[in-house]
Amino acid sequence: MGKINVLDFQVANLIAAGEVVERPASAVKELLENAIDAGAGSVTVEIKRGGTTFIRVTDDGCGMSAEDLPVSIMRHATSKIRDAADLDGITTLGFRGEALAAIASVSHMRIMSRTKRAETGNVLESVAGEAVDLSEAGMPRGTTVIVEDLFANVPARRKFLKRDASEATACAAVVEKIALAKPKVAVKFISDGTIKFATSGDGDLKSAIYAVLGRDFAAKMTEVRDLSDGIGVYGYIGRPDNNRGNRNFENFFINGRYVKSRTAMSALEQAYESFIPSDKFPCCVLNVDIHPTFVDVNVHPTKLEVKFSNERLVFEAIYSAVRNALNSKLDRPEMVVKTNSVSAEDIALANAFMPIFDHASEPPHTRYSQAGFFDTASPPAQNTPVAPPEAPPVAPAPADAALAPDYMKIDLSNVTRESPEYNNYDLPPVAPPEPPAPAASGPSVSDEVGLNEHVEYRIIGEAFNSYVIVEVENKVLMIDKHAAHERINFERMKRNVRRSEGGSQMMLVPVRISLDPRGYSALRENADELKTIGFLLEFSDADHSAALTGYPSKLDEEDACDLLDELCDRLSEGTGTVRTSFESLLEKALYQASCKASIKAGHVEDAAHVKWICDNLLALPDIKFCPHGRPVAIELTRSEIEKQFKRT
Ligand code: ADP
Ligand code: MG
Repeated sequence: MGKINVLDFQVANLIAAGEVVERPASAVKELLENAIDAGAGSVTVEIKRGGTTFIRVTDDGCGMSAEDLPVSIMRHATSKIRDAADLDGITTLGFRGEALAAIASVSHMRIMSRTKRAETGNVLESVAGEAVDLSEAGMPRGTTVIVEDLFANVPARRKFLKRDASEATACAAVVEKIALAKPKVAVKFISDGTIKFATSGDGDLKSAIYAVLGRDFAAKMTEVRDLSDGIGVYGYIGRPDNNRGNRNFENFFINGRYVKSRTAMSALEQAYESFIPSDKFPCCVLNVDIHPTFVDVNVHPTKLEVKFSNERLVFEAIYSAVRNALNSKLDRPEMVVKTNSVSAEDIALANAFMPIFDHASEPPHTRYSQAGFFDTASPPAQNTPVAPPEAPPVAPAPADAALAPDYMKIDLSNVTRESPEYNNYDLPPVAPPEPPAPAASGPSVSDEVGLNEHVEYRIIGEAFNSYVIVEVENKVLMIDKHAAHERINFERMKRNVRRSEGGSQMMLVPVRISLDPRGYSALRENADELKTIGFLLEFSDADHSAALTGYPSKLDEEDACDLLDELCDRLSEGTGTVRTSFESLLEKALYQASCKASIKAGHVEDAAHVKWICDNLLALPDIKFCPHGRPVAIELTRSEIEKQFKRT
């Protein structure tokens, strides 16, 4: 007798189920996606004990007929596609016809469903994947799926489940992402009898973010809306002072589906490079709309990775959309005035948001700051604009002229203490307008330096030799002297660098670089663009090697080689472009230099210099954050002050 057995139906199903349903959260995801695919306007997800004993998903979607109910739990049964051609333009979340079968085979499942036209509904009951009962029953239109005792018949899998609380967190994370992806659907999430959050379904992404991620998050974000090369990028990104210790808050949705994409994450992070500290991560809720034929979703059902047919276009679309938003639309942070009275609404809100994190790496209070309500929970510094600035970076005595980091050859002489900006406070506050810089790419703050807007203001004084208090229009600003100086310097240096861009330094002896085939073709394809920033390469198809004959004249040889290495990785993986990488390297060097060139908090400066800072800052109304992401100024409006004094 042969050794090969054909597995029976139940064993085969269990194996398949293992791939689709790893843990309660995967069942929740599939059931919720089915509800959305059914056209639901509102969905309620309820779990008990992390979903291990009970999951219920109720929707008001199209429902299923008595005839379809038993078919729905069969493998490869779907109403969403018919043939192979349909795979190319998938617009529903599901299409494999595996989920209900898989979940049913490892649980006790009941599906109650009534279609729009039917007078009554039907209930299908299944145990370990076998339909045991189908009966008629009265019920509202739509579908309710109840899953009990998940994995009761698969003890091995049950053993791998984490604590109920961790499973609940994973379920919540799934519901959150879908709620953010579909602001038109009212999504409610209940865990062990408590409503954790509920979105209104009003179609406004901002209100969905408020409901899911909390008030503090919603208050510290800025809108993104951009269309380039047929790729739409829209949603919200965190202000630079709303940054995080990990990537958990980088939410990307491609055509309404939550995805993990290295290309998207790299584009976001590189766009933020000069806005937040290098050890921090930005946050966003960003939708990318792209023609479905350019996206490959036909990956494993539980995997979130996505592939694009042109990663570079997607990278550039996200990078420039985020950059534009950061450069133009940031609000100045408001001064937070703490009051002792806590309203019932505040408490309800604080309780409603359960901290959701994919990795238990971060304690809840650092991710969700509903803080301020509870004295015990000290909010993270980045969420509190009035917190004292971090200790000024250790810097050499400011009088030294060599301010540039060792590895850059950028001429920074214009910002030393000897420079006119520093000493001659009678100079016009902002240099006269310059002709537009040549190779400047896309709009950026620096392009606006020189557009002097005359703003009337009055310096009230300076607190702690660090914060300048200014009255301007109907606001009081508190300006962080050091942060402001840093940003002003940064913008000026950036402009100077742009003006002197380009040019190659020829190598005395060309350097041979051996490359793997991907790296080789990446560099080869981008040779022309590499040339524009100064990299001259000669390629040899025979052995996949290249010789570097010239490098950007602004870099020294070693840095140029490092950058080329980095570019090679980024280009072959679709996680960066030549231009953005070069710019970000320059910016990084600039902001280190601008920090060193700036006055420190706590220093006593003469009045003229304080005025110089205010003149410059207020002439550049778009400058809201220093290059490390700390606010440059915070504001308190007159109406807020009057409210505090109960004058309104
Ligand atoms: P898929 O979603 O990939 O089609 P599923 O196993 O998740 O496969 O679901 C099988 C079919 O059952 C779906 O194609 C759909 O026709 C039907 N179905 C599942 N859930 C619902 C629901 N909540 N409302 C209406 N129909 C549903
Ligand atoms: Mg499905």
